[in-house]
Amino acid sequence: MPRPPFSYKRKKTVETPARKPMPPPAAAPARPISAGWMDSPAHLLLLSKFAVPRAIDDYSRDELWQSVLREPAQQAIQQFISAGAIAPGTPAQALDYRLRLAELKKQLRARNLPDSGTKAELIERILAADPAWVQLHIAGQPVYICTGAGRAIVEQYNAQRQAQRLACEKEVRDALAARQIERAIQAVAAYEAAQVFPRGVGIDWHHPDSAQDESALRAIGNCHIRPLSALNPEQLDEVRLNAGVRWLFGYSYDDYPLPAEVTDRLPDDGFRLTSAVIANARFHSAIDACRKSQAQFPQVRHVIVYTHGDDHLVCDECRRLAGREWSPDEAPELPYERCTSSSESGCRCEANWRFKND
Ligand SMILES: [Zn+2]
Repeated sequence: MPRPPFSYKRKKTVETPARKPMPPPAAAPARPISAGWMDSPAHLLLLSKFAVPRAIDDYSRDELWQSVLREPAQQAIQQFISAGAIAPGTPAQALDYRLRLAELKKQLRARNLPDSGTKAELIERILAADPAWVQLHIAGQPVYICTGAGRAIVEQYNAQRQAQRLACEKEVRDALAARQIERAIQAVAAYEAAQVFPRGVGIDWHHPDSAQDESALRAIGNCHIRPLSALNPEQLDEVRLNAGVRWLFGYSYDDYPLPAEVTDRLPDDGFRLTSAVIANARFHSAIDACRKSQAQFPQVRHVIVYTHGDDHLVCDECRRLAGREWSPDEAPELPYERCTSSSESGCRCEANWRFKND
């Protein structure tokens, strides 16, 4: 099944500060929560967005939300308000939502005030110094945030989602350990089909085309590339299972790292090992797809072509690899044995097949 490009890279630490939820407004919800929307995953997902201050406009014009909610988002949000699950935010919360850190600092400097401290501290400072400006700045643009009751619902919802994901990961791992590839693929497809916003664009998770996954998972289960030769059988199993789960969920290594007790005893970096296994799986799924198409259209010649990363890190050997067309039987396996890259992600070579143009 087509999927978004796989992330081999380690995620960089993102510098954007997390929006910290601020204390809820003093007025407690008067009404107990009882509404049909609490059985709707799309409504609960939307409510969970209000764990931090949000404007209704963020969602009211979004057709995607309307389609999953089966009603205008504005209407759904009004129900949250009526039920006491969300309420208007404080001026501080509205500022937190409306102003970026840099803009807050600029406003403070313009008033000859210090611009150091956390975002919450900066907001308190400007609120104390110039409440009239704050009122003017947030006028007519209310934000909403979960009340205590709303937060309780969101926390329960988040815990449920997390439990479902962990249960699916475990099911996939168990299936792969038992070499039941189809069972693993089905488990992920069922999981994604049940999501409000399933992963990937245009994938029909109710009827997934699993040929690519089958090839890749077979390759992972049988993977014997050179970097794995120093592993003992248990380590080899761990690395393959990790790669298999990552393949099916589209996880980066940070989403699903090897446990520390495994990496501590590995002869090489866990990220590099599992990424090599995944690169090898991609290679074999491309070769399988090429052979399958060749069998279907034997009158046309099929070739394998390589692409690599698009920067100065790519080594000369990989550059030479990419300039040629290969028959699927002769195409060098990836990760490329002759690659001389010492960078963590290698030269990021990939094999693809195409009809021979001539
Ligand atoms: Zn290379």
